[in-house]
Amino acid sequence: MITMHGIEKKYELGGSVVHALDHIDLTIETGAFVSIIGPSGSGKSTLMNMMGCLDKPDAGQYTLGGSRIDRLKDRELADIRNQKIGFIFQNFNLLGKLTAVENVELPLIYRGVKSKERRTRAMECLMRVGLEERAAHLPSQLSGGQQQRVAIARALAGEPQILLADEPTGALDSKTSEEIMRLLTELNDNGRTIVLITHDLHVARKAKRTVSIRDGRLQEGEHI
Ligand code: ADP
Ligand code: ADP
Repeated sequence: MITMHGIEKKYELGGSVVHALDHIDLTIETGAFVSIIGPSGSGKSTLMNMMGCLDKPDAGQYTLGGSRIDRLKDRELADIRNQKIGFIFQNFNLLGKLTAVENVELPLIYRGVKSKERRTRAMECLMRVGLEERAAHLPSQLSGGQQQRVAIARALAGEPQILLADEPTGALDSKTSEEIMRLLTELNDNGRTIVLITHDLHVARKAKRTVSIRDGRLQEGEHI
């Protein structure tokens, strides 16, 4: 479960201050599927970085699975991030010289899982996204949709509490986007908490709950 109370983030840029997050209050229950929708520059990436423990707020409280994130040191932040969060990005962020299954193994290397078990678990994750037959392919030998499936398998590998997806369909055509959204819905049906960031209303509506952000302020529902 995620709880944010009075989260503030400001950036100073050439003498002026941008209020990237302006008093954010947000609760996300375990097992939820929430999309955060907003135009470019509204604060989505900043909120995602905060939620994903990549960055700490200037003020406010952030609790993730019982840990007070805003009080942690940077080192502890990295540990929490590796344990609790699975990231999915617009451009997949796969390592080009590694095969699909090797990419999926990466989070398990950080966790110190031995190589044989790593391979077994990575193959199970590829199976969950319907891509076990492409395990030995390099990213360049896969379509965009297949690469995103590998990235989703990698996000699942560490059994994170939460999947954070930043414009996961942003680089995909509409048919492939539908497939990826179906996969995320299926993972959510199986109990995974998913937070999806998008500027695309059509994509946002696939989630069970929509929250809007504009000028760093949140509002429940669609406000485009
Ligand atoms: P979005 O992801 O919705 O496009 P961002 O979170 O990237 O929005 O940005 C929110 C606001 O904060 C924007 O005005 C942006 O220019 C500003 N901003 C974000 N990151 C930085 C930064 N590192 N330095 C200065 N300004 C930033
Ligand atoms: P998105 O494609 O998600 O809207 P952006 O292109 O707005 O993301 O920003 C990507 C990253 O660049 C943000 O996470 C932020 O840290 C940084 N950033 C955004 N705006 C600025 C800015 N004005 N100055 C410096 N860094 C920025």
